[in-house]
Amino acid sequence: MNNPLFIHNTLTRTKQRFIPLHEGRVGMYVCGPTVYGDAHLGHARPAITFDLLYRYLLHLGYKVRYVRNITDVGHLEHDADEGEDKIAKKARLEQLEPMEVAQHYTNRFNTAMGKLNVLPPSIEPHASGHIIEQIRLVEEILEAGYAYESNGSVYFDVVKYNEDFKYGILSGRNLEDVHDASRELDGVGEKRNQVDFALWKRAQPEHIMRWPSPWGEGFPGWHCECTAMGRKYLGEEFDIHGGGMDLVFPHHECEIAQAVASQKKQMVRYWMHNNMITIAGKKMGKSYNNFITLDEFFTGGHELLEQAYSPMTIRFFILQAHYRSTLDFGNEALQASQKGLERLMDALRQLGRIEASDKGKLTEAYAAEIEKKCYEALNDDLNSPIMISHLFEACRTINTLADGKESITAAGLDALRRVFTTFCFDILGLQAEEGGNAGREAAFGQAVDLLLEVRAKAKADKDWATSDKIRDNLTALGFLVKDTKDGATWKLNK
Ligand code: ZN
Repeated sequence: MNNPLFIHNTLTRTKQRFIPLHEGRVGMYVCGPTVYGDAHLGHARPAITFDLLYRYLLHLGYKVRYVRNITDVGHLEHDADEGEDKIAKKARLEQLEPMEVAQHYTNRFNTAMGKLNVLPPSIEPHASGHIIEQIRLVEEILEAGYAYESNGSVYFDVVKYNEDFKYGILSGRNLEDVHDASRELDGVGEKRNQVDFALWKRAQPEHIMRWPSPWGEGFPGWHCECTAMGRKYLGEEFDIHGGGMDLVFPHHECEIAQAVASQKKQMVRYWMHNNMITIAGKKMGKSYNNFITLDEFFTGGHELLEQAYSPMTIRFFILQAHYRSTLDFGNEALQASQKGLERLMDALRQLGRIEASDKGKLTEAYAAEIEKKCYEALNDDLNSPIMISHLFEACRTINTLADGKESITAAGLDALRRVFTTFCFDILGLQAEEGGNAGREAAFGQAVDLLLEVRAKAKADKDWATSDKIRDNLTALGFLVKDTKDGATWKLNK
């Protein structure tokens, strides 16, 4: 097969022609969500970026095994929850079985991905279901001499590894940088070097997610799961490993060290990372009060949102930026995406109505030219914004065809329809949404806004009975209504 696709490899820092290890087949691993909370905009970007890659590889005729894991063991957050497993903490606070919490958020994540038309991966392995494989990985690293046991935990010996191989090749950090940047307090007194990371942690008595191991009861370090599961399902060497740029260090750097320490060779050929989504230039996070879940986008139920945005608007917004650029969230940008998406969908509807003419000026050559430009953009490291700009260019021609100011042959029209549906639906993964872009969920959000307007009017008229009734009933239905000086805002109280 001719390999037209070039992708940027984070490891080599260059754009490389994509050549799979096995003719016609691609193995691809992407770090999936940690399931202790609702999916937010930050989850949508890697999911959609690698969905585009997955769809394009399938379109090119590859057989793809796409593995995206579920992190349900949780991982340590040193300052926030003092080393307690996040899922376990949530379970303890809510008196739930930890796997119940993980399942709940896994279901919600997959529902949100379905709305975004993200294709399900071929395999979705759970970290908690692969403890045996992770223990085996830790044993191999111990046998190779790059790890040591200390007080029931096992640590990776970064200093020793760095002498034989080089630590930091993915992120470009050297050991001194890592040492200076490391504020890790966990494992002090147990670790040989501050930079060492945990492969296995001894469970404290209050830790409820725990498994027996050769080193006592405990749980695996976060980085182990992807190395162990990637190897199990894709082999000792596989083609693509992806994730958000925030995972380059330490997660993927540690994965490389674990793989090389245990099998003496690299596991991954191409490392790909999507850039982050920011809100007004800031990283999204619970502490910034700019943490917007996907459900809140779909319903408009967040104070930073001027309106509801349909799943396809969110998808198109993400695809309109190159995956390696930062993408800043804003109502204006999203509204522009909504308009852009409407233009494409409009053109698709027009294409269905245009009539061909025997003496048409445009022919198949016109469709072939658009097709060629679209392929060129995608082959250039998945440049979806450039590809979309070529489709927009074609939208203008489609409008002139619809107005009768331009004409096209039957074969030309067929080809143009095929090009449009292939790129819009199969590759970009867009879908026509019911009722234009105001889907059902947006309508639901608009209905709540309308009720709050009625309530504001009642308040202005000093009709407290009506105003209280609306607020109380909305509260009983699970909405959180907050009065502000400019009116009222609402969100779903989960
Ligand atoms: Zn991972």
